[in-house]
Amino acid sequence: MRRRVTEAAILSDHPQSPADVRQWTCPHAQHARHGCVPCYQASADADPALPLWDVAVWFTTVWPIPIRALQDVHRHGRRFTLDQPSTPLVYILSGQVRTALGAEAVAAMVGFLQQNRHIVEEFTVTEIRAVHS
Ligand SMILES: [Zn+2]
Repeated sequence: MRRRVTEAAILSDHPQSPADVRQWTCPHAQHARHGCVPCYQASADADPALPLWDVAVWFTTVWPIPIRALQDVHRHGRRFTLDQPSTPLVYILSGQVRTALGAEAVAAMVGFLQQNRHIVEEFTVTEIRAVHS
């Protein structure tokens, strides 16, 4: 049986420890919560030998995301799905990303949001999770 590796963080306004910040910093020196467009672009053409991560990103918005934009995510984001749990203005973006590190996988997914501002203009990432088996 292969060991599943889970990396997760609940983000708050409190500063993270230096070790936590290192863990979630992508190779382009971006914290995963802020997203990284180069990571997103690299993941689109990733080496099949790299691990596949199940990534989930929770974020809040100032305004509700229109249903149409929610559905649009699947078209633009390939394997990504944007869901709205019962709480208003809280969304979960989830899907699979192929990268070397969990931090890159999360940075790539948030980078997708950054590149598609027509889906959500302003957002705050509150929780991140990357799992690979
Ligand atoms: Zn990056």
